[in-house]
Amino acid sequence: MNDNIRSHYYDEDGIHEECGVFGMYDFDGNDVANSIYYGLFALQHRGQESCGIAVSDTEGPKGKVLSSKGMGLVNEVFTPEDLGKLKGNIGVGHVRYSTAGASTIENAQPLVLNYVKGTLGLAHNGNLVNAPELRRELSLTGAIFQTTIDSEVIAYHIARERVKCGTAEEAVIRALRKVKGSYSLVVMSPRKLIGARDPFGFRPLCIGKRDNAYILASETCALDTIGAEFVRDVEPGEVVAISPDKGIVSFKDMCQKEHARCIFEYIYFARTDSYIDQMSVYESRIIAGRCLAKDSPVEADLVVGVPESGNAAALGYSMESGIPYGTAFVKNGYVGRTFIKPDQSQRESSVKVKLNVLKNAVKGKRVIMIDDSIVRGTTSDRIVNMLREAGATEVHVRISSPPFLYPCYFGTDIPDREQLIAYNRSVDDICRIIGADTLAYLDIDRLGELSGGRQFCHGCFSGKYPIAPPTEDIRGEHEDFKRGADSKVK
Ligand code: SF4
Repeated sequence: MNDNIRSHYYDEDGIHEECGVFGMYDFDGNDVANSIYYGLFALQHRGQESCGIAVSDTEGPKGKVLSSKGMGLVNEVFTPEDLGKLKGNIGVGHVRYSTAGASTIENAQPLVLNYVKGTLGLAHNGNLVNAPELRRELSLTGAIFQTTIDSEVIAYHIARERVKCGTAEEAVIRALRKVKGSYSLVVMSPRKLIGARDPFGFRPLCIGKRDNAYILASETCALDTIGAEFVRDVEPGEVVAISPDKGIVSFKDMCQKEHARCIFEYIYFARTDSYIDQMSVYESRIIAGRCLAKDSPVEADLVVGVPESGNAAALGYSMESGIPYGTAFVKNGYVGRTFIKPDQSQRESSVKVKLNVLKNAVKGKRVIMIDDSIVRGTTSDRIVNMLREAGATEVHVRISSPPFLYPCYFGTDIPDREQLIAYNRSVDDICRIIGADTLAYLDIDRLGELSGGRQFCHGCFSGKYPIAPPTEDIRGEHEDFKRGADSKVK
């Protein structure tokens, strides 16, 4: 396939969330595929490479699972006919961006595994740091892997444990005791929907309810989209089993006091209208903007955000500083898998294809531009330049996170240190490289305010990880890591 067509990325500097998961069990027997589709659509920002839905009928023959998955966006992959064929009242769905395992259809989720006790459907958000050793261990005992993703290691372990214990949830708990790293999981067994969150709570997972159906979703925005009410978050370390006879049964054997929610969920990954562990992502971004205004004030005429995550932070900066908030960028969000990426010989910059500047809004003004992060610096450089070309007299950049100095091993594709603009450079150096008048980052000590006092992970900023980094490369098969790609989808 033509490489331009294969790639649906066209931002040039950035990081990606790794996945979104969604599960639903309708106790009244109604089909769930349509609701899963809309749930995944709401979670599309968490992964745009591939997506899939697997469903089953809890009253039907055990082990009969219907699934459909493909490469691309949710609205590109599924047709109404596909959804119409997915008959079943229990199901799981997934949107994927690969941080471990190559971007191929084989690696698309949900994984469906047939084993002696029936069939298992599994969707995973996160990265296991001990996946290579677990994979080797399983291979030595005869396991043949169909994919290169760490999620299959979990699925295999659950299937193996299920043969030895009485219930599917017990098998999940036993399997999860072996894995280390980040995971928010939704698992469909023949008669139960199971959700699990790793003991540190790196990735979010919440429970919702609509009529007589229960839902598990990465973010609350997916519950809103399908008209479900929020019930509660799955706690870090908790496993929940959902069934008509027992409702929600909670297992907290793996819960611990120490948590490490990914702070970058609040800063950038999660949708602005979501709540994570009952902290509003919008509020969190407002706080980040307020902190920037307090710590790094500058005289200016206008505060603008780089869409989307920069907007709320810009509003916060404006509220704190009294400098008017405005819109400077218009974003074209219609990017699908078949988007043709401009090559270097073309005059269209990939940033300009996606963002345009409202010239009237910035002409003759001193502008404060708020963005969520700078990774390699190439995008920031272009956006600053676009503001100047549109007539801004000064451009002051404020970043609503601290500088990225270290990679992430828990499901975010922050590149290796050498590729990070902040590695071995001062803020003044970076300011010069991106062509801004002034530059300031959020102080690392402010991060606690963004999570409303909840414990969080800050490894990519501080180098202090809650779990020891892996000794083997867990990201090796992701081509972008190998070649240090400069891609970004926001
Ligand atoms: S290292 Fe950074 S991106 Fe990774 S989980 Fe921790 S806070 Fe999130």
